[in-house]
Formats: sequence, structure tokens, C-alpha cells
Amino acid sequence: MEKLVRLNDLTFRLFKSESEIQSAVRSVAGKINDDYIGKRPLLIPILNGSFMFAADLLKELKLDCELSFVKAVSYDGAHSTGNLATLIGLNQNIEGRHVIIVEDIVDTGHTLSKILPALQEQNPASLKVASLLLKPLALQAELAVDYVGMEIPNEFIVGYGLDYNGLGRNLRDIYQVVPE
Ligand code: 5GP
Ligand code: MG
Repeated sequence: MEKLVRLNDLTFRLFKSESEIQSAVRSVAGKINDDYIGKRPLLIPILNGSFMFAADLLKELKLDCELSFVKAVSYDGAHSTGNLATLIGLNQNIEGRHVIIVEDIVDTGHTLSKILPALQEQNPASLKVASLLLKPLALQAELAVDYVGMEIPNEFIVGYGLDYNGLGRNLRDIYQVVPE
């Protein structure tokens, strides 16, 4: 029987199972384990969506690493077009550090394309992005996502940390919206 969940006014169907997600997490972790030997990376997950991926990813890292969660706040710039995004909660000096931004999903890429230059200004030793999910067809920004767990089609998903109107973050699997 098809696995469906109802959240608010929408229905979602199972898209990526817990075991598929965990193998994608292990694949990202494996690459980071290989690339950061002796480097003590600082992982910076962007709340809220990435909390579950960050937790599972860290459990698979075999090297010394540090963690500092941040939040990306977007607001409408009064005198500019489009949304601005700024990071709050980064109370750590990243100068000279090997920084890995941890994202749940890169969709248009607008959030990261605002945040990365601001971080780069603080002169980290290196700055990379690890995202569990990437929607290549939605990507509008010129952006390199260095570590990608899974590429997915351009459809709205929930679960494994990702929400729809606040609901669904607790689901162990990832679900895709069913058109009504
Ligand atoms: P972007 O700036 O790349 O368009 O996306 C920024 C954020 O939007 C992501 O980190 C994620 O929190 C949210 N987002 C993008 N696509 C989806 C989706 O399909 N489902 C959910 N629940 N959130 C999404
Ligand atoms: Mg996110």
C-alpha cells in the first residue's frame, strides 16, 4: 500500500525511504572523511531544516570536527528587489578555519548565494557546501554545491527535518507533495 501523510491541507507520498537517506548521508560523510584528514573542519548547519541531516552526518564523521548552528534570516530589502538573507548566531571566528556549510536542500540557491560571500569575507581557510538534497532544475544562482547526497526533481518535499507550514520535520522518510 502506498505510504501517504497528510499535513495541513496537503497530501504527500513516500519519496525517499529512511534507508535511502541514510546511505546518501554515509556517502557525503565518506567524502568529507577523505577530504579533511588532519584539517579539523568547522561544520555550520543552517537551521531549521538541516538539524536532522547535521546530526546523522556528524555521527558518520571519523575525524576531529566542530559544529556551530546558524539561522538564515531573510527579509525584504526596503530599497532593493528580491529577498536578502543574513546569518545569525555565528559567534565563532572562522578566519583560517575549514568551513563546511550544511544544508538540507539547495533549491534556487538564492539563500546560499547571499550567505557565502559574507562568510568568504571573513577569510576562512576553505569554504564548502554539503547539502543532502539538490534540485538541479530549480537552481538559479551560480553556485557550487561541493557535496550532494541526492539530486531530486523540482517538486516540494517534506520530512527528515524539512517542513510544510511547520509540520513534517519529525518524519524519518522524505515525502513528495501529491497534486490535488
Ligand atoms: P533556496 O534559497 O536554495 O531556494 O532554498 C532555501 C531553503 O528553502 C532551503 O534550505 C529549504 O529550507 C527551503 N526549501 C527549498 N525547497 C524546499 C522543499 O522542497 N521543501 C521544503 N520543505 N523546504 C524547501
Ligand atoms: Mg535550509
